[in-house]
Amino acid sequence: MSKTNSKLGTGKTCQCSVCGEYFSTVGNFDKHREGKHGEKVCVDPATVGLVIVQRGENTKWAMPGTTYDVR
Ligand SMILES: [Zn+2]
Repeated sequence: MSKTNSKLGTGKTCQCSVCGEYFSTVGNFDKHREGKHGEKVCVDPATVGLVIVQRGENTKWAMPGTTYDVR
């Protein structure tokens, strides 16, 4: 069960197809994928410095201090 829930199609939000978490950017998504190419695994986004940001009912992982941008 993922900790975040966001509507896709807003800004650069992307969802991990493995763990189901939502991320503000592909770069932040990459942060939670660790391991060699082809053997990458998901780690808890909180352990790589990401925090959950919220706007309304939408949440996603982003860098601390990020303003949720739905454009
Ligand atoms: Zn993941």
